Amino acid sequence: MTQTGRCLCGEISYEFSGDLIATAVCHCDHCQRQSGAAFSVNLIMHVDQVTVTGPIKTFEDRGEKGDAVYVHRRFCGRCGSPILSELVEPPGLVALKAGTLDDRTVVQPQVQAWCVDKQPWVDLGELHAMERE
Ligand SMILES: [Zn+2]
Ligand SMILES: [Zn+2]
Repeated sequence: MTQTGRCLCGEISYEFSGDLIATAVCHCDHCQRQSGAAFSVNLIMHVDQVTVTGPIKTFEDRGEKGDAVYVHRRFCGRCGSPILSELVEPPGLVALKAGTLDDRTVVQPQVQAWCVDKQPWVDLGELHAMERE
């Protein structure tokens, strides 16, 4: 089944198909800053499963210490919506931002990461927590 999504203004759209590797909530500091929210919700898949249309922009995220680039955060330069993050390690994986899906009713998180940065009022119940990302 093919799923579709887009940014807020519609300049960037995408579609993907195939099975997801996982659906993961991320509480990390950078996801909070990029999203303006308490956490991000990510559909983890192989980069070749998704086709992006439109002039997407990239922020090379070097992490909190300014080390080597560890994730390419791709977003709409017109409206600012984060669309997906392409991981450097392991290569070939992307984290697509679930809030940009056209149909979000199918999203079912299975795991939460970076709980060390989790906001104290966030309670996702029994959702499995990864120790480190
Ligand atoms: Zn946009
Ligand atoms: Zn994160």
